[in-house]
Amino acid sequence: MTDLATASPGSEAGAVYRHDIPAESPWSRVLKRGQTLRIVDSEGQQAVDALLYCADDPAERYSAQDTLRVQGSAYIDLGTRLVSNKGRVMARITADSCGRHDTSAGCCSCESNAVRFGESTKYQHACRENFIMELSKHGLTKRDIVANLNFFMNVPIDPSGNFTVVDGISAPGNYVDITADMDVIFVISNCPQVNNPCNGFNPTPIRVAIWDPPAL
Ligand SMILES: [Zn+2]
Repeated sequence: MTDLATASPGSEAGAVYRHDIPAESPWSRVLKRGQTLRIVDSEGQQAVDALLYCADDPAERYSAQDTLRVQGSAYIDLGTRLVSNKGRVMARITADSCGRHDTSAGCCSCESNAVRFGESTKYQHACRENFIMELSKHGLTKRDIVANLNFFMNVPIDPSGNFTVVDGISAPGNYVDITADMDVIFVISNCPQVNNPCNGFNPTPIRVAIWDPPAL
């Protein structure tokens, strides 16, 4: 069996799919087993919230808790295996030029914005709304939203266990590659948050590209 972790895409010219996701917008695509998705933080300091579902049975989906338990550490970085609620590896991080990704701090919502930042922020667009819109394309609803990944989001955890969202460290053009170990519905919310520093208070576009697995 081919070790999918060895798959490494070449130049973007070889990609089978390329797309710029506008600021504050959702996106999704079925990623076939062996394909690699690259997410590029085009302008830097942009959090990218993400969820994964097994394409054959979306009841199997990304599990932040199982992912952290299996790897025994708190951050998502090169080599991290993204594990499902059934304990199977859905995908893995096969390249990373940023070095810091989160899966502890969840996604923003109108409700949490109101609690954290005041009632006046309740009507701002949020990741939860992006997820609801994008999941509807796959027959899924808000009941299917689980604890998510936050690519390029900087949430340092201090020795006492406290953590908070701080300024992102990703530079313009930083990227992360995710190679699928099964067919997955990959869902993204390009985070619209403007009340904390996860997007540098200025949400910006991101870019995605997909490569087929290298020929055997
Ligand atoms: Zn968000």
